[in-house]
Amino acid sequence: MNLGPQGAPKTPEELKQMRQAAKIVCAILDELEAAAKPGVTTHALDQQAERLIKKMGAKPAFKGYHGFPAVLCASVNAQVVHGIPSKQTRLEEGDLLKLDFGVSYHGLFADSARTVRIGTVSDEAEKLIAVTKEALARAIGVCVAGARVGDIGHTVQSWVEAHGFSVVKDFHGHGVGRALHEAPTVPNYGLAHSGPQLTPNMTIAIEPMVNAGTDKVEILDDEWTAVTLDRRLSAHFEHTVLITEGQPEVLTLSAS
Ligand code: MG
Ligand code: MG
Repeated sequence: MNLGPQGAPKTPEELKQMRQAAKIVCAILDELEAAAKPGVTTHALDQQAERLIKKMGAKPAFKGYHGFPAVLCASVNAQVVHGIPSKQTRLEEGDLLKLDFGVSYHGLFADSARTVRIGTVSDEAEKLIAVTKEALARAIGVCVAGARVGDIGHTVQSWVEAHGFSVVKDFHGHGVGRALHEAPTVPNYGLAHSGPQLTPNMTIAIEPMVNAGTDKVEILDDEWTAVTLDRRLSAHFEHTVLITEGQPEVLTLSAS
Protein backbone atom coordinates (compact mmCIF):
# COMPACT_ATOMS: atom_id res chain seq x y z
CA MET A 1 0.00 0.00 0.00
CA ASN A 2 1.48 3.36 -1.03
CA LEU A 3 0.69 5.73 1.81
CA GLY A 4 2.15 8.94 0.35
CA PRO A 5 4.22 11.50 2.20
CA GLN A 6 5.23 10.88 5.79
CA GLY A 7 2.70 11.94 8.43
CA ALA A 8 1.91 15.44 7.12
CA PRO A 9 0.62 17.78 9.86
CA LYS A 10 -2.95 19.00 9.39
CA THR A 11 -3.94 22.66 9.14
CA PRO A 12 -6.48 24.15 11.58
CA GLU A 13 -9.09 24.15 8.80
CA GLU A 14 -8.42 20.47 8.03
CA LEU A 15 -8.66 19.62 11.72
CA LYS A 16 -12.03 21.34 11.90
CA GLN A 17 -13.38 19.06 9.16
CA MET A 18 -11.71 16.02 10.73
CA ARG A 19 -13.35 16.75 14.07
CA GLN A 20 -16.70 16.84 12.31
CA ALA A 21 -15.95 13.61 10.43
CA ALA A 22 -14.98 12.00 13.74
CA LYS A 23 -18.17 13.22 15.41
CA ILE A 24 -20.24 11.66 12.63
CA VAL A 25 -18.32 8.36 12.87
CA CYS A 26 -19.00 8.24 16.62
CA ALA A 27 -22.66 9.12 16.33
CA ILE A 28 -23.22 6.42 13.72
CA LEU A 29 -21.22 3.80 15.64
CA ASP A 30 -23.33 4.61 18.72
CA GLU A 31 -26.50 3.93 16.73
CA LEU A 32 -25.13 0.74 15.19
CA GLU A 33 -23.99 -0.52 18.57
CA ALA A 34 -27.48 0.06 19.98
CA ALA A 35 -29.06 -1.74 17.00
CA ALA A 36 -26.72 -4.76 17.09
CA LYS A 37 -28.92 -7.39 18.76
CA PRO A 38 -29.57 -11.10 18.27
CA GLY A 39 -31.53 -11.64 15.04
CA VAL A 40 -30.24 -8.51 13.28
CA THR A 41 -28.18 -9.07 10.12
CA THR A 42 -24.91 -7.25 9.47
CA HIS A 43 -26.46 -6.19 6.14
CA ALA A 44 -29.18 -4.32 8.07
CA LEU A 45 -26.49 -2.52 10.09
CA ASP A 46 -24.71 -1.54 6.88
CA GLN A 47 -27.94 -0.16 5.41
CA GLN A 48 -28.60 1.81 8.59
CA ALA A 49 -25.06 3.23 8.45
CA GLU A 50 -25.50 4.23 4.81
CA ARG A 51 -28.77 6.06 5.57
CA LEU A 52 -27.16 7.91 8.49
CA ILE A 53 -24.09 8.93 6.44
CA LYS A 54 -26.39 10.58 3.89
CA LYS A 55 -28.50 12.25 6.56
CA MET A 56 -25.40 13.72 8.21
CA GLY A 57 -23.93 15.08 4.98
CA ALA A 58 -20.84 12.87 4.97
CA LYS A 59 -19.43 10.37 2.50
CA PRO A 60 -18.59 6.71 3.15
CA ALA A 61 -14.85 6.09 3.42
CA PHE A 62 -14.92 2.33 2.86
CA LYS A 63 -17.45 1.76 0.06
CA GLY A 64 -15.54 1.39 -3.19
CA TYR A 65 -12.16 1.53 -1.41
CA HIS A 66 -10.17 -1.02 -3.43
CA GLY A 67 -13.60 -2.34 -4.39
CA PHE A 68 -14.97 -2.91 -0.86
CA PRO A 69 -18.73 -3.35 -1.35
CA ALA A 70 -20.16 -1.81 1.85
CA VAL A 71 -19.94 1.31 4.04
CA LEU A 72 -19.25 -0.76 7.16
CA CYS A 73 -16.88 -3.59 8.06
CA ALA A 74 -18.71 -6.08 10.28
CA SER A 75 -16.59 -8.99 11.51
CA VAL A 76 -18.01 -11.66 13.82
CA ASN A 77 -16.14 -13.87 16.33
CA ALA A 78 -13.07 -15.39 14.57
CA GLN A 79 -13.29 -12.77 11.83
CA VAL A 80 -10.61 -10.18 12.57
CA VAL A 81 -11.30 -7.30 10.17
CA HIS A 82 -12.86 -6.46 6.79
CA GLY A 83 -15.94 -8.63 7.24
CA ILE A 84 -18.44 -7.86 4.47
CA PRO A 85 -21.95 -7.15 5.80
CA SER A 86 -24.32 -9.87 4.64
CA LYS A 87 -27.99 -10.85 4.74
CA GLN A 88 -26.72 -14.31 5.69
CA THR A 89 -24.89 -13.08 8.78
CA ARG A 90 -27.53 -12.90 11.48
CA LEU A 91 -26.17 -11.93 14.90
CA GLU A 92 -26.61 -14.47 17.68
CA GLU A 93 -26.52 -14.30 21.46
CA GLY A 94 -22.87 -14.52 22.59
CA ASP A 95 -21.34 -13.19 19.35
CA LEU A 96 -18.42 -10.79 19.40
CA LEU A 97 -19.05 -8.19 16.67
CA LYS A 98 -16.34 -5.84 15.42
CA LEU A 99 -17.70 -2.70 13.79
CA ASP A 100 -15.10 -0.76 11.81
CA PHE A 101 -16.32 2.43 10.19
CA GLY A 102 -15.07 5.62 8.57
CA VAL A 103 -16.41 8.65 6.73
CA SER A 104 -15.09 11.71 4.99
CA TYR A 105 -16.50 15.17 5.62
CA HIS A 106 -15.55 17.95 3.19
CA GLY A 107 -12.72 15.67 2.03
CA LEU A 108 -11.27 14.91 5.48
CA PHE A 109 -11.41 11.41 6.99
CA ALA A 110 -11.91 9.78 10.38
CA ASP A 111 -11.77 6.06 11.19
CA SER A 112 -12.82 4.12 14.30
CA ALA A 113 -13.64 0.58 15.39
CA ARG A 114 -15.35 -1.05 18.35
CA THR A 115 -15.95 -4.57 19.57
CA VAL A 116 -19.58 -5.08 20.56
CA ARG A 117 -21.03 -7.84 22.75
CA ILE A 118 -24.19 -9.43 21.40
CA GLY A 119 -26.01 -10.26 24.62
CA THR A 120 -23.84 -12.06 27.15
CA VAL A 121 -20.44 -13.23 25.88
CA SER A 122 -17.95 -15.80 27.18
CA ASP A 123 -15.40 -15.02 29.89
CA GLU A 124 -12.66 -15.28 27.28
CA ALA A 125 -14.45 -12.75 25.08
CA GLU A 126 -14.80 -10.38 28.05
CA LYS A 127 -11.09 -10.66 28.80
CA LEU A 128 -10.22 -10.13 25.14
CA ILE A 129 -12.35 -6.98 25.01
CA ALA A 130 -10.80 -5.60 28.21
CA VAL A 131 -7.22 -6.30 27.15
CA THR A 132 -7.69 -4.86 23.64
CA LYS A 133 -9.43 -1.73 24.90
CA GLU A 134 -6.72 -1.15 27.49
CA ALA A 135 -3.99 -1.76 24.87
CA LEU A 136 -5.49 1.07 22.81
CA ALA A 137 -5.77 3.37 25.84
CA ARG A 138 -2.14 2.71 26.76
CA ALA A 139 -0.99 3.24 23.18
CA ILE A 140 -2.81 6.59 23.05
CA GLY A 141 -1.13 7.48 26.33
CA VAL A 142 2.34 7.34 24.76
CA CYS A 143 1.34 9.54 21.78
CA VAL A 144 3.10 12.72 22.83
CA ALA A 145 5.14 14.86 20.45
CA GLY A 146 8.64 13.43 20.17
CA ALA A 147 7.56 9.83 20.80
CA ARG A 148 8.02 7.37 17.94
CA VAL A 149 5.63 5.07 16.13
CA GLY A 150 7.54 2.09 17.56
CA ASP A 151 6.52 3.22 21.06
CA ILE A 152 2.88 2.63 20.09
CA GLY A 153 3.53 -0.88 18.76
CA HIS A 154 5.74 -1.78 21.69
CA THR A 155 3.08 -0.61 24.16
CA VAL A 156 0.31 -2.61 22.49
CA GLN A 157 2.36 -5.76 22.02
CA SER A 158 3.83 -5.93 25.50
CA TRP A 159 0.44 -5.35 27.16
CA VAL A 160 -1.35 -7.91 24.99
CA GLU A 161 1.30 -10.61 25.26
CA ALA A 162 1.56 -10.15 29.04
CA HIS A 163 -2.11 -11.20 29.12
CA GLY A 164 -1.58 -14.34 27.04
CA PHE A 165 -3.08 -13.03 23.79
CA SER A 166 -1.43 -12.17 20.45
CA VAL A 167 -1.43 -9.10 18.21
CA VAL A 168 -2.23 -9.41 14.52
CA LYS A 169 0.83 -8.50 12.43
CA ASP A 170 -0.78 -8.53 8.96
CA PHE A 171 -2.83 -5.33 9.50
CA HIS A 172 -1.71 -2.02 10.93
CA GLY A 173 -2.87 1.37 12.07
CA HIS A 174 -2.07 4.33 9.85
CA GLY A 175 -2.00 8.03 9.33
CA VAL A 176 -5.47 9.37 8.52
CA GLY A 177 -6.99 12.67 7.43
CA ARG A 178 -6.52 13.72 3.83
CA ALA A 179 -7.02 10.09 2.90
CA LEU A 180 -8.37 7.06 4.75
CA HIS A 181 -4.87 5.59 4.85
CA GLU A 182 -1.80 7.84 4.96
CA ALA A 183 1.75 7.50 6.18
CA PRO A 184 2.99 6.52 8.66
CA THR A 185 2.12 2.84 9.06
CA VAL A 186 1.36 2.21 12.75
CA PRO A 187 2.00 -1.46 13.59
CA ASN A 188 0.68 -3.04 16.79
CA TYR A 189 4.09 -4.54 17.51
CA GLY A 190 7.67 -3.34 17.44
CA LEU A 191 10.51 -1.74 19.29
CA ALA A 192 10.30 1.27 21.57
CA HIS A 193 12.23 4.37 20.42
CA SER A 194 12.09 3.25 16.77
CA GLY A 195 10.28 4.42 13.64
CA PRO A 196 8.95 7.82 12.54
CA GLN A 197 8.62 10.55 15.14
CA LEU A 198 5.22 11.88 16.22
CA THR A 199 4.87 15.62 15.72
CA PRO A 200 2.10 18.11 16.60
CA ASN A 201 -0.92 18.14 14.25
CA MET A 202 -0.23 14.66 12.91
CA THR A 203 -3.38 12.53 12.94
CA ILE A 204 -3.10 8.76 13.22
CA ALA A 205 -5.48 5.84 13.52
CA ILE A 206 -4.34 3.40 16.21
CA GLU A 207 -6.08 0.05 15.96
CA PRO A 208 -4.99 -2.99 17.95
CA MET A 209 -6.38 -6.26 16.60
CA VAL A 210 -5.95 -8.90 19.29
CA ASN A 211 -6.41 -12.65 18.96
CA ALA A 212 -7.15 -15.13 21.74
CA GLY A 213 -4.87 -17.71 20.12
CA THR A 214 -2.49 -17.55 17.16
CA ASP A 215 -1.62 -14.19 15.61
CA LYS A 216 -1.89 -15.79 12.17
CA VAL A 217 -4.84 -14.88 9.96
CA GLU A 218 -6.11 -15.96 6.58
CA ILE A 219 -8.32 -14.28 4.01
CA LEU A 220 -11.61 -15.97 3.08
CA ASP A 221 -12.70 -16.65 -0.51
CA ASP A 222 -14.57 -13.31 -0.60
CA GLU A 223 -11.03 -11.80 -0.78
CA TRP A 224 -11.74 -9.43 2.12
CA THR A 225 -12.65 -11.13 5.37
CA ALA A 226 -9.63 -11.85 7.54
CA VAL A 227 -10.16 -14.69 10.05
CA THR A 228 -7.92 -16.19 12.71
CA LEU A 229 -6.16 -19.29 11.44
CA ASP A 230 -7.21 -21.26 14.55
CA ARG A 231 -10.76 -19.79 14.40
CA ARG A 232 -10.47 -18.53 17.95
CA LEU A 233 -11.84 -15.10 18.86
CA SER A 234 -10.45 -11.72 17.83
CA ALA A 235 -11.17 -8.18 19.11
CA HIS A 236 -10.52 -4.76 17.57
CA PHE A 237 -10.68 -1.17 18.81
CA GLU A 238 -9.60 1.89 16.85
CA HIS A 239 -9.44 5.63 17.44
CA THR A 240 -8.39 8.58 15.30
CA VAL A 241 -5.90 10.50 17.43
CA LEU A 242 -4.48 14.02 17.10
CA ILE A 243 -0.91 14.59 18.28
CA THR A 244 -0.59 17.94 20.06
CA GLU A 245 2.07 19.89 21.96
CA GLY A 246 0.62 18.31 25.11
CA GLN A 247 -1.58 15.28 25.65
CA PRO A 248 -3.01 13.51 22.60
CA GLU A 249 -6.60 14.28 21.65
CA VAL A 250 -8.87 11.38 20.75
CA LEU A 251 -11.10 12.69 17.96
CA THR A 252 -13.37 9.64 17.82
CA LEU A 253 -14.41 9.62 21.49
CA SER A 254 -18.13 9.04 21.77
CA ALA A 255 -20.12 11.64 23.71
CA SER A 256 -22.38 8.95 25.16
MG1 MG B 1 -11.00 1.40 10.74
MG1 MG C 1 -8.05 2.12 10.24
